[in-house]
Amino acid sequence: METTYKYSRVLIKLSGETLKGAQEHGYDSEAVRAVVERIKQVVYAGVEVALVVGAGNIWRGVMGKAGGMDRVNADYMGMLATVMNAMCLKDFFTAVGISAEVQSAIAMEPLAKRFNRAEAVKALESGKVVIFAGGTGSPFFTTDTTAALRALETDCEAVLKATKVNGVYSSDPFKNPDAVRFDTLSFDEALARQLAVMDSTAFSLCRDNDLAVIVFDFFEPDSLEKVLRGDLSAGTLIN
Ligand code: UDP
Repeated sequence: METTYKYSRVLIKLSGETLKGAQEHGYDSEAVRAVVERIKQVVYAGVEVALVVGAGNIWRGVMGKAGGMDRVNADYMGMLATVMNAMCLKDFFTAVGISAEVQSAIAMEPLAKRFNRAEAVKALESGKVVIFAGGTGSPFFTTDTTAALRALETDCEAVLKATKVNGVYSSDPFKNPDAVRFDTLSFDEALARQLAVMDSTAFSLCRDNDLAVIVFDFFEPDSLEKVLRGDLSAGTLIN
């Protein structure tokens, strides 16, 4: 039976921590392979997938700031770390027969091409996974904001924020057993209830430009397929 998806082009935002598995830092090859396998299923089914990966498994700017570093330099280190993560993912995609391309916000040839909107769209249309690296290229932003920005630039229909929980709850479900899960939320409701969906810059970008966000548990079996079919038992849709 053929699966019908509600979305044909999406941007998946992965936190860097997704790549470290049970390790404290860096890469766990089983974890990276699992990420790639999950995405492979939907790419084979014809969904166009763009990716933004963070760098929490290596470095975040706030770590440097806490240690007395200049915030701008510390943030550039974070952006560089996202390029490493993107290269790692590209390698694992290639190993499973999926063509992937890294486009960086910061010039970094020969490691990665520079971000180019038209080329990114062409690559997505040809079935390639396009991994946007280097964040926005500017300090004081996050990779959530990068995800919103690149999704808008490349006409993605939604940002799929991969997390460890199957949606947005009224309070932290790990701390409060009475926390209520939402299937859908408007941006205004999320704001009024002060629910942490993304950082405020990313959130505003999505809200102001009507870009749907889906928060879902990336590690639950078949959750990505379910979300792409519009099954809201697997994630919360904010629009
Ligand atoms: N970063 C930045 N500008 C951007 C994107 C990222 O300065 O446009 C830096 C920032 O220091 C951030 C780090 O890169 O802490 C890694 O990104 P993020 O914290 O979003 O990674 P994640 O938490 O998703 O793993």
